[in-house]
Amino acid sequence: MQIVNDNGCSWINDLNPRSNIKVLDKNEECEWLIIGAGYTGLSGARKLGQLYPGQKILLVDAQLAGEGASSRNSGYLVDTTLNDGFTSNKELDNYKKKADIYKLGIDVIKKFIKEYQVDCDWNECGKYFASSNKEDRKILENFSDTLSKLGFEHNLLSNKELKKRLGTNFYNIALHTKGGILLHPGKLVRAMIDTLPDNVNLYENSLLLNWKKKNNTVICKFKNGSIKTKKIIFATNGFLKSLGIKSNYNFPITLTASMTRSLSDEEFRSLGEPKEWGVLPVRPMGATIRMTKDKRILIRNTAEVFSPYQMSKSKLYKRSLKQKIGIKKRFPELPDDIIQSSWSGIVSRTRNSSQIFEKIDDNIFVAGCYNGSGIGVGTLFGEQIAIKASNENTKEIETIEARNKPTWLPPDPILSLGVRARLIFERVRARSEI
Ligand SMILES: Cc1cc2nc3c(=O)[nH]c(=O)nc-3n(C[C@H](O)[C@H](O)[C@H](O)COP(=O)(O)OP(=O)(O)OC[C@H]3O[C@@H](n4cnc5c(N)ncnc54)[C@H](O)[C@@H]3O)c2cc1C
Repeated sequence: MQIVNDNGCSWINDLNPRSNIKVLDKNEECEWLIIGAGYTGLSGARKLGQLYPGQKILLVDAQLAGEGASSRNSGYLVDTTLNDGFTSNKELDNYKKKADIYKLGIDVIKKFIKEYQVDCDWNECGKYFASSNKEDRKILENFSDTLSKLGFEHNLLSNKELKKRLGTNFYNIALHTKGGILLHPGKLVRAMIDTLPDNVNLYENSLLLNWKKKNNTVICKFKNGSIKTKKIIFATNGFLKSLGIKSNYNFPITLTASMTRSLSDEEFRSLGEPKEWGVLPVRPMGATIRMTKDKRILIRNTAEVFSPYQMSKSKLYKRSLKQKIGIKKRFPELPDDIIQSSWSGIVSRTRNSSQIFEKIDDNIFVAGCYNGSGIGVGTLFGEQIAIKASNENTKEIETIEARNKPTWLPPDPILSLGVRARLIFERVRARSEI
């Protein structure tokens, strides 16, 4: 396996390239090892660094830190996600458990950016769940009911108001939640790298090839070295399965997104100069689309089972054509050649949309599978798995542990066939929204 990403991600390309990249090229021994340096791994490493100033803590990533999904996402820090409306108290209770975790995720990011004065284009403008399909009103009304019962401020909007707020006539109905933040994911994750404690040693471009437990240690093999560690945290999210971790509970999904250049003043005026906004789809396979602070439009409208991990330029190009159509449908007045870059990223899913947070063996821990909502939850889970691995408990851990646990998945090829079939079904249901 190789983990090499395209270099098309606008969020990454907005930033200055990093220097002082260290590659693992020797054998090491340590107290703590974290594999994966996205939000989860970086947050876990930060916590361990604070808890154990005198211990050796290594953080290793197969590519440049933070340049996986943590930089490649759409930048919605969510407080709620859409469901079709709950009927029983049990379901409402489950939804609340999820929302409690999202809230803790928002809190942990807020604390981080306040403490380190991070500029990540933070905007507490809420988010829209929008659809062009009038029949989706029923879904949104049910959702509104759930949100009202749980005290989340929101309102339903129709086409006229949406045209004013979003600059497109495409959407007929939407639910706007007051909660939810839009941010620049690349800037956020870069700040997490830049502020790692001094006692955390980061190795990049160092792929973990295999690992095994021997007595009380875990031995990890890399291309040019090995690490023997007392405790290990796996924070590889979409790659957990490839490392043989919780294989029957998670699977990777590849998403692709595109971003336009900044709109010219004239183009922006033609849309009515809307404020920054973010739309999430009502149907799972519909498009996520966002107007950024600097007047760029981001769109993500694919999700697929894709193997191998690396997407070729031609395959990425094909997907970017879908994104071009998605933009054209919503903003016919904009020129055809407005997309500046396209990229792919890998996320992890579970069957029941629950997350993984657990000790899988003595001294071996794992956190991941955020089902597409990992900015806050990943940061929270990283921090808390470090605490759990220290045999401590917190209120946050109790909230996390109270969630429904991920349910069992069949092995391949049944799994990939099933997932593919489901994605096709969802794509058909969402065809007007792509
Ligand atoms: C297009 C897209 C849009 C998204 N939109 C949103 C959104 O709007 N809001 C939201 O909350 N979430 C969103 N997500 C999901 C979010 O990005 C992820 O949930 C989050 O990044 C997970 O963080 P992580 O640190 O657990 O995983 P990652 O960021 O994936 O980090 C895992 C790291 O592990 C490394 N790794 C893997 N295998 C190995 C190995 N064998 N050896 C060494 N290192 C390894 C990888 O290189 C990677 O850097 C989106 C994702 C994508 C791709």
